[in-house]
Amino acid sequence: MQKNLTKAILVFNYDLHNHTNASDGMLTPEALIFLAKSGGCDAIAITDHDTTAALAPARIAAAAHAIKFVAGVEISVTYNYVDRETEAKGETTLHIVGLDIDETNTDLCQLLSTIRAGRIIRAGKIAEDLDKAGVSGTFAGATALAENKEMIGRTHFARHLVARGIEKNVGRVFTKYLAKGKPGYVAHEWTSLEAAVATIHAAGGLAVIAHPGRYRVSPAVIRDLFGQFKALGGDAIEVVTGSHKTAQFQEYTTLALEFELLASRGADFHALGESPFLPGSLPPLSSALTPVWTKFRSL
Ligand code: AMP
Ligand code: MN
Ligand code: MN
Ligand code: MN
Repeated sequence: MQKNLTKAILVFNYDLHNHTNASDGMLTPEALIFLAKSGGCDAIAITDHDTTAALAPARIAAAAHAIKFVAGVEISVTYNYVDRETEAKGETTLHIVGLDIDETNTDLCQLLSTIRAGRIIRAGKIAEDLDKAGVSGTFAGATALAENKEMIGRTHFARHLVARGIEKNVGRVFTKYLAKGKPGYVAHEWTSLEAAVATIHAAGGLAVIAHPGRYRVSPAVIRDLFGQFKALGGDAIEVVTGSHKTAQFQEYTTLALEFELLASRGADFHALGESPFLPGSLPPLSSALTPVWTKFRSL
């Protein structure tokens, strides 16, 4: 690649992980695009959980603001593993981001619709468990906060408990009630890693492991995950994300290079006052990495 082109690719401000109120973000697609443009993004991806509902209005807003738009999604996955060091079996939820997707693809629409149906059932169970833990009436309360009723998630429960004064912020509700092992946590079968990667590819997109540093599994499990993901044809991992601590930027740069995976960058922005980074405000990717956007069909 020509030197000046390499440089342009790195200095371009791509932010490839953001949420709107079609999932558990709080801004409309139009407001998010405006914020991204004001924050200096050259390109923005919207990657709502298990829905592409925000993409059409966001695409129109992006054209009006002269910012490049990347169609995305963040798919919830259930990953079963065996830790080869301890031989312990475990299960964790993973998030697989699809970038540069065709959101009209029927396989993708079908998969996301099935996952959303599961979310509503899970929300009923979360509310029952919170009721048993002494907090009643949360189903109606959380649903009222979800702009897209199909896309109810734990964040809506967390905001509802904060609004009721039960905890002072969303993070504390997760720690006390909603994280794995807490009274309002409900184990849920999402989809498989194989299905998520295959469906993103069927929709013409690139598959990215979101915020790998956030999964509560051992380093051996992360390495096996990267190996399996690569064998499935997975494309990239998020290296620089608002869901990583700064020290993890280097850690995942090293792993992306070792596993020869492309690298992504994204704020994982949800809401003003809730998310640590605004769209476009994170440090750039290391120049040693190959950014995932170099493989976009539309670059
Ligand atoms: P769900 O997909 O409904 O299980 O919700 C997952 C979402 O909850 C994530 O995408 C984050 O937006 C949010 N979340 C998860 N853990 C935390 C946490 N510890 N603090 C704040 N938000 C969290
Ligand atoms: Mn979220
Ligand atoms: Mn995520
Ligand atoms: Mn996210």
